[in-house]
Amino acid sequence: MADDIFDKIIAGEIPAYKVYEDEDVLAFLDLSQATPGHTLLVPKADVPDIFAYDDDLAQRVLTKIPKVARAIKASDDKIIGMNILMNNGEAAGQSVFHSHIHLIPRYKDDGLNLPAPSEEHPVSDEVYKERAAKISAQFSKE
Ligand code: 5GP
Repeated sequence: MADDIFDKIIAGEIPAYKVYEDEDVLAFLDLSQATPGHTLLVPKADVPDIFAYDDDLAQRVLTKIPKVARAIKASDDKIIGMNILMNNGEAAGQSVFHSHIHLIPRYKDDGLNLPAPSEEHPVSDEVYKERAAKISAQFSKE
C-alpha cells in the first residue's frame, strides 16, 4: 500500500511527468519547476533519506544520477550547468520524506538562488583537525 506522495506516483496512483524508469528508480518532473526541466530521481524502495541507504541501494540508485543528468542536459542546448542536490531531514529543507535527488538544470541568467554559504567561517587548525577526526573515526565502526 502506497503511503507517501512518491510511493503513490511510483504505484501510478497519481500522475507525474515521468522521464525515466527502471526496476530501482523513477525520475519525473518536480511539480515546482525551479528551472525548466527540474527533475526528481526517486528510489522505488521506500527509504526516507540518505542515512537509510545501504551500499547495495546506493549502487542501484545513485549510479543513475549521471544518466538522468545527461538526458536532461541533452534535451535543451540552453542548459549550461546543473545543480544536483538532496535535502536530508527537515533541518535541511526536506519536505517529502521519501528520499529523492533534485536535478536542477541551469541556464544563462536564470536568476535561481539556491541556498549557499554566504559567509566563510574559518576556524582554527585544532578545530578542523578535531572535526575531521570525529568524522573519520566513524568509518572504523561500519
Ligand atoms: P524536498 O523539499 O523534500 O527536497 O523536495 C520535495 C519536492 O517534491 C518539492 O520540490 C516539491 O515541489 C515536489 N513535490 C511535492 N509533491 C509533489 C507531487 O505530487 N508531484 C511532483 N511531481 N512533485 C512533488
